[in-house]
Amino acid sequence: MLFENKLTTPKEAFIDITPQVREAVVKSGVTDGIAIVYSPHTTAGITINENADPDVVHDLLLGLSKAFFDSAEFRHNEGNSAAHLKATAIGSSVTVIIDGGELLLGTWQGVYFCEFDPPRNRKFFVKIIKG
Ligand code: ZN
Repeated sequence: MLFENKLTTPKEAFIDITPQVREAVVKSGVTDGIAIVYSPHTTAGITINENADPDVVHDLLLGLSKAFFDSAEFRHNEGNSAAHLKATAIGSSVTVIIDGGELLLGTWQGVYFCEFDPPRNRKFFVKIIKG
């Protein structure tokens, strides 16, 4: 079962999409299986990380910007190669185990949509597979 979600991203950010993933699990009726969360974009990604202390997201964004900075040597004429680099480093999808109708996330984990090239209208997919 496939679910599509839309979101707007006014700034570079990690957006907690755990509630939308949980909602997809509930709607699917699947109690044991996997949820694949996927971004179809080249300058955004999907990851799992801490959702308790917001300073973690701040530090992730800061660290990524220091690791993947803009360069005058880049050729891509859209001028957003740093965003492409961050998206590739983060990846386009995550897989979460569904066990007993719940996402098998750790206590401090959340699923994030990672925007690196705002502002944009974005979407992500949640595929629920029974098994
Ligand atoms: Zn580009």
